[in-house]
Amino acid sequence: MHVKINAKPGSSKANKTGSWRSGKKPKFLQSRCIACQLCVIMCPEGCVTGKGKGTFNVDLDYCKGCGICAIICPVKDIEMVDEEEKTQSRKISEWKEDK
Ligand code: SF4
Ligand code: SF4
Repeated sequence: MHVKINAKPGSSKANKTGSWRSGKKPKFLQSRCIACQLCVIMCPEGCVTGKGKGTFNVDLDYCKGCGICAIICPVKDIEMVDEEEKTQSRKISEWKEDK
């Protein structure tokens, strides 16, 4: 009997996961970055990209807010921030639509 296993890493890249994030999201400060790429390598969702210093960023459609990137960054160039900002801007845009 053959059992088919989907062993592709970062499979959630094909399935948007950002809608059920932890309540926190990473903010890439892009000021002290040394381009070590640890945030790219260690992100379990494969949603961090970048090439040179200060170019690394996150695709929030796929980020779960686990905070690994912020913990692993050797120069503390990533901060975990509240989702509140997003919620606030959503509320403002809804308010504008009502006008
Ligand atoms: S918080 Fe960082 S490590 Fe975790 S999923 Fe988001 S980008 Fe990846
Ligand atoms: S872990 Fe930090 S220093 Fe390394 S590439 Fe990512 S943001 Fe830059």
